[in-house]
Amino acid sequence: MSRFWSPVVHQLTPYVPGEQPKLDTLIKLNTNENPYGPSPKVLAAIRAATDDSLRLYPDPSGDKLKDAIAGYHGVSRPQVFVGNSSDEVLGIVFQALLKHEQPLLMPDISYGFYPVYCGLFGIEARQVPLDDSLSIRVEDYRQPCGGVILANPNAPTGRLLPLSAIRQLLDDHPDQVVVIDEAYVDFGGDSAIALVNDYPNLLVVHTLSKSRSLAGLRVGYAVGDATLIEALERVKNSFNAYPLDRLALAGAVASFEDDDYFRHTCQAVMRTREQLTAQLQALGFEVLPSAANFVFARHPQHDAAMLATGLRQQAVIVRHFTAPRINQYLRISIGTDAECTRLVQVLGSLLS
Ligand SMILES: *Cc1c(COP(=O)(O)O)cnc(C)c1O
Repeated sequence: MSRFWSPVVHQLTPYVPGEQPKLDTLIKLNTNENPYGPSPKVLAAIRAATDDSLRLYPDPSGDKLKDAIAGYHGVSRPQVFVGNSSDEVLGIVFQALLKHEQPLLMPDISYGFYPVYCGLFGIEARQVPLDDSLSIRVEDYRQPCGGVILANPNAPTGRLLPLSAIRQLLDDHPDQVVVIDEAYVDFGGDSAIALVNDYPNLLVVHTLSKSRSLAGLRVGYAVGDATLIEALERVKNSFNAYPLDRLALAGAVASFEDDDYFRHTCQAVMRTREQLTAQLQALGFEVLPSAANFVFARHPQHDAAMLATGLRQQAVIVRHFTAPRINQYLRISIGTDAECTRLVQVLGSLLS
């Protein structure tokens, strides 16, 4: 606390990211990073961009990247917004589109950054409980509101809503923006980007951090009606005109040019997820069906916090959340086959 702080700073409850340990001998299954490196073509593009041109500012609107994204999703450039991570894109979305008289609806269990942005931007949040199976029920969102945001697949549950449910939500809220955060959709979901030409109230947010193995590069984007995108551009250009640097732009464009690599690594993660799910079930865990690059699992006889601590002592880190409804679950990111085998081995020894 300091008398020098702006008043709002006293009220903030910042997001706490998963641990990024300095030791690299740990098996890190706690922040949903991709176990495979980025495409070699991405690395080559970043190297090629590492030259004297770094003295120059990057393209402030990132048009080449927007075109690559637009081409990939079959939309047009004015329907695409790019930013320095999807966290930044989401921050801009909250300011530009979600601050209204009525409260913003979101699941009670979802990405922890949503309530943090509400605190920062002075937006009233109304949390809508997941049902007993930890599923989002879109019927429960039929209430007056200033907007809706949810993650699909949801985090940290991994559960996926079908596009028919997203359509229902959009039909129920024709006068509010509905934001779908699809950070994990490439691991088994259908993207709601297919609906943006039908729904002017839909905004879909993506990141290159998970499925494109680029958490370290910090690139995210949003796709929606051009008028929604214009609102995002206005806020962005009132804050930071050059959020994406030259290396990030070059690497991100190259990622969209190497679709084979992208699809192969996503498939490898999904294959390992199915193996890991079966192995955890064999150990007695209940595992929620996941369409993401992590699983959410609990053991009926073993306390989750104790298991997380036991794993940590054996150099395996997973995420444990202390919120009441989910404090008996572990969220385990999908690693390589070898990392998951080690995880299962350590869990087996902890259970016996
Ligand atoms: C990881 C994650 C993000 C943030 O991604 P970045 O682009 O790395 O900031 C956003 N939303 C959800 C649901 C996530 O899990």
